[in-house]
Amino acid sequence: MAVPKRKKSKRRTRQGRSHHALTAPTLSTCSKCGEQIMPHNACQTCGYYGERKAVDVETKLDKKLKKKENKENETKEK
Ligand SMILES: [Zn+2]
Repeated sequence: MAVPKRKKSKRRTRQGRSHHALTAPTLSTCSKCGEQIMPHNACQTCGYYGERKAVDVETKLDKKLKKKENKENETKEK
């Protein structure tokens, strides 16, 4: 296995880590419900993308609940 020839100095380590900072995501507000949303994405709360309804949020929520119930039942059986 290849091994580094010499120890990385504190300075070198820190210089590299100076690029590791995270930036906060840019958020915009939904024009329908005013919730914060990722730009160019349908709203997670109301399912609208601009003026158009893109996602049926209610059926999605039902599916999520059903999935959760199934999971709980599975853990009870064991
Ligand atoms: Zn919305």
